[in-house]
Amino acid sequence: MKSFIYIVTFHLIFLPFFDCTNTTCDQVLQPIEIIYPECFRPTEQTEIMVHKEYFNPVHGYAISPFKSPNEDRNHFHHRNVNNKIKIIVLHFTVLDFGTTVKEFTSKRSNTSRNVSSHYVIARPTEARTHNQLLQVVPENCVSNHAGISLWGNYSLINSISIGIEIVNYGYNATNDSWDPFYQDQIRIVGLMVARMVDQYKVLPHYVVGHSDIAPNRKIDPGVMFPWRKLYKNYGIGAWLDNDEMNETVVIAKYSPSTPCPSTPDQKLFVNYLGVYGYNISDEIQAIKAFKAHFTANQKPKLYNSLITRLEMYWIWALVAKYSH
Ligand SMILES: [Zn+2]
Repeated sequence: MKSFIYIVTFHLIFLPFFDCTNTTCDQVLQPIEIIYPECFRPTEQTEIMVHKEYFNPVHGYAISPFKSPNEDRNHFHHRNVNNKIKIIVLHFTVLDFGTTVKEFTSKRSNTSRNVSSHYVIARPTEARTHNQLLQVVPENCVSNHAGISLWGNYSLINSISIGIEIVNYGYNATNDSWDPFYQDQIRIVGLMVARMVDQYKVLPHYVVGHSDIAPNRKIDPGVMFPWRKLYKNYGIGAWLDNDEMNETVVIAKYSPSTPCPSTPDQKLFVNYLGVYGYNISDEIQAIKAFKAHFTANQKPKLYNSLITRLEMYWIWALVAKYSH
């Protein structure tokens, strides 16, 4: 009991001093140009300083918070202790690593957007092994990655989420193609998100893409993002197991409150999307976001097709499994 009181007292006294801008004494700060020579010219003088850090279970670098008179380059603020992390949002950057990092640390006078994310994961061509993961914003602070968005009952997503940006060029309209993700990037996503889900007790269907929480505005991380692989290999996110492709199994395991739909029905499909978490104010965009994540994932040709009976099954079974 005595030690309990001591611990509580210790935290009460010292907690306010452990904030986002603290750095430990043994950190060696280096200009980002030295660590990422593939992405920044040596003469560029971005004044972005980084230090090595272990983010459990991945090694990487962290940007050291900017000090006076450059505090406006810190695109984050303290996370309110009542705002627990509930959602993890995955993005693609469209921009290369260097341009992304510069945008996330720009002087506020040069941009009204003040955007950022907690992590940026470089392509293997942009960073040496063990340098691919860069932390821009500490996890106990709020980054501005989600914008106007909604998931379930939550609309102020930035305050309760972690944002991870994966360097990827996304959709190329000229030749109707999607930029593939690198295995190295997916491995880092899998390991990091698995740890975060465990640490913050994030629900499986609260690991989402930007397009899931903002279907009217965003398409990232896109139809080629390997959600199934992340579920199978790292146990993260929502998906259906092979045995759950059987209606009888889903009923036995999850006792769904509605019967399995037997025919395609857009209204009913959209209702289920709303129950699952989507903003359904624009039905078509919500359907597209769902398809990109689940039923048309890795199959861009199916992205714009009509709803099928199989897709009715998917949303019914996902709602049964996760939204009860
Ligand atoms: Zn995004």
